[in-house]
Amino acid sequence: MLKGKTRKSTYRAIYRLLDRVSPVPFDCGCICGAACCQAGEQEKLGLYLLPGEEKVHNPKDPWLSWERQSTGEYDFPPSWQGDVFFVNCRGPEHCRRALRPIQCRTFPLKAVILHDSEDEGLDAPLVYREEGSELALLYYPDPLPYCCPLLESQSNLQPDFIKATYTVWKHLIRDPLIYDLISGR
Ligand code: SF4
Ligand code: SF4
Repeated sequence: MLKGKTRKSTYRAIYRLLDRVSPVPFDCGCICGAACCQAGEQEKLGLYLLPGEEKVHNPKDPWLSWERQSTGEYDFPPSWQGDVFFVNCRGPEHCRRALRPIQCRTFPLKAVILHDSEDEGLDAPLVYREEGSELALLYYPDPLPYCCPLLESQSNLQPDFIKATYTVWKHLIRDPLIYDLISGR
């Protein structure tokens, strides 16, 4: 299994911080039928857990289905040598909200490392970047098999959600594996 430097206690603290915020001040699942939660059934879409994030979870817990994948078979950075966990949700009615993985909690933003000071030529609009930092948050730019109204309308996201998400990724990129992952955007 891929060995990251992020500890279980750090993942737990991150989950607690992100429990307190949400992208918009209402349940956005109501406007789209929770499209991003349903897609697992239709398209085999799921989420990769970050290195070590599996320590927060119990693979026998039935709300997620688990698949172990070799990084060599997928488009991961060269430093990612080993296996990673890909999980599928069994639908919003089964969701254990307190255990939502980080990649779910920070959607519809995507964290990226920008290696220069330019914000131009990005794959998607920049949402937030601290001055002088390489870390930036964009609206999620990659193709999705469903329509997310927040992305489609590039809705104004709540400032506390953006701030918490940025803080979380600032911590996470202290782990070189995670830094490499989002450097490759
Ligand atoms: S698809 Fe977008 S609007 Fe719908 S629940 Fe997911 S994040 Fe919210
Ligand atoms: S963890 Fe919960 S909220 Fe996130 S995609 Fe899965 S079912 Fe939806």
